[in-house]
Amino acid sequence: MKLTINFSGLDQALTKMGAQERPFELAAHATKEQSWGELDLELNKDIQLKDIHTGPHKILHINNRPIMLYIPDHSFNFEQTVRNPSVGKKVHFAECTTITNMRYKGFGERYTITEKTKGLFNIYRSNRYNINDKGDHQAKLMPCQNCLRTTGYHDFTYKSQSEKIKFLQAFSYVDLFTHYRAFFKKLPTKKTQADYDYTNDFMQISEAVKQRARFTCAECHVNLANDKTLLHTHHIDRMKSNNALSNLVCLCIECHAKQPYHQHMKLNSNQTNRLARLRMQQGR
Ligand SMILES: [Zn+2]
Ligand SMILES: [Zn+2]
Ligand SMILES: [Zn+2]
Repeated sequence: MKLTINFSGLDQALTKMGAQERPFELAAHATKEQSWGELDLELNKDIQLKDIHTGPHKILHINNRPIMLYIPDHSFNFEQTVRNPSVGKKVHFAECTTITNMRYKGFGERYTITEKTKGLFNIYRSNRYNINDKGDHQAKLMPCQNCLRTTGYHDFTYKSQSEKIKFLQAFSYVDLFTHYRAFFKKLPTKKTQADYDYTNDFMQISEAVKQRARFTCAECHVNLANDKTLLHTHHIDRMKSNNALSNLVCLCIECHAKQPYHQHMKLNSNQTNRLARLRMQQGR
């Protein structure tokens, strides 16, 4: 069985924006700079953080399309940022500590996804005293220095303080994206080969993992031998293609839904009630 990620939310958003219906097919085969769209999406409204993956050099991408994340709302820092963009919020393009923390804590809704490489980012202020004046502005926001270290772009880590300042003053997002998009063009475009997809033999592997666990949840220890649909096999490192036994754990759907990045997993009341009853009967 093949499972694929549902990109319909993003597709719809792009269609609304007048983009091609299959933007990623195009993007995946793109060879010319202009083939890349000028994507601007609100995280968690148009697309979820879990749909953003980490690729070569820990670059953030959606379906092999490198993207950046930044917070447009500059609230009380807005005026200062308009005068001096270097005090503004930073632009992330790699799996830095900020992004990893956010994946766990989930404050993603403040972020915007963009692939606009001109280096100007829409910012505003959500000032509760002045609702009608959001002060839209295009700011030359700087890249996140942790992202620069994470990717190793231009040996950033090894630059002296004065070299870093010089490098940041001359920083170009076009250069950054030109450099990293090249790695993605070589990647397989089929989702089945990507890290976020289940392998074709996952059903058999999953069955073996459940048998090994005697159909018991590793967290709450409820036995689901007679309710196998409530039992899942979870990939600990989130890479659905990594079926190493040490990476697989058997969880009831309730404990599964509580794992990091699994906010999308929802239980209905029948399932919650059934699990509660079984745990009680089994004294778990
Ligand atoms: Zn960053
Ligand atoms: Zn459980
Ligand atoms: Zn899981």
